[in-house]
Amino acid sequence: MSLKLNIAHLYGDLLNTYGDIGNILVLDYYAKKMDVELTSEIVSLNQRFEESKFDLAFFGGGQDYEQMIVSKDIQNKKEALISFIASEGPMLAICGGYQLLGEYYISAKGEKIAGINALPHYTKSQDNNRFIGDIIIKNSETGQEYHGFENHNGMTFLGNGERPLGIVISGHGNNGADKTEGAIYKNVFCSYFHGPILARNGELAKRILLLALKRKYPDADFTKQEQLEIKSTY
Ligand code: GLN
Repeated sequence: MSLKLNIAHLYGDLLNTYGDIGNILVLDYYAKKMDVELTSEIVSLNQRFEESKFDLAFFGGGQDYEQMIVSKDIQNKKEALISFIASEGPMLAICGGYQLLGEYYISAKGEKIAGINALPHYTKSQDNNRFIGDIIIKNSETGQEYHGFENHNGMTFLGNGERPLGIVISGHGNNGADKTEGAIYKNVFCSYFHGPILARNGELAKRILLLALKRKYPDADFTKQEQLEIKSTY
């Protein structure tokens, strides 16, 4: 059987801080090792998110100005994105994308930028400060450590039904106070890590690809793919 996965790269032409698109290159790298053909398509302004076409979605980060533009447009895709998430569609959302999946984001200038309320977190701004630097977190379910680089003004607070992607070992994380970093909600993985996150954390790429494969091909045997060994690159 030839295995295929198609990724929606949400607003890939507008939100791509520090080469977040590299996450798609990493997914492609591991997909090849799993004998999976990966394709990706940008879904941007004035386009529909056709959920039945996609097996995965990726949503990168950006500056407040671009987030404001995306915030208006994404309201037209809200229903389809919420339905994709409700049906266990796997998604990776970074920084600005993470913020826009939540209730709202207060920009550095104090404007309220609406999210789509797909996930129950919200993001406030901090006065004249950004969380910048290397960060290490630990995922409680797998015991895996994730290493990366964060750069955000927003302070995110998780809501009911969300668990953190990891507990902060060093760095700031979601808000600098509660030691959480990122979020997991159904099959959606969110993080403030740029760099891009999957380049240094191949285990997470493998986890996301397996979720997408098992959802698309529920009767297939993925023992071989599960055994793919990932070498840590940090
Ligand atoms: N503009 C947002 C913030 O500063 C997101 C930044 C980003 O995606 N790097 O919090």
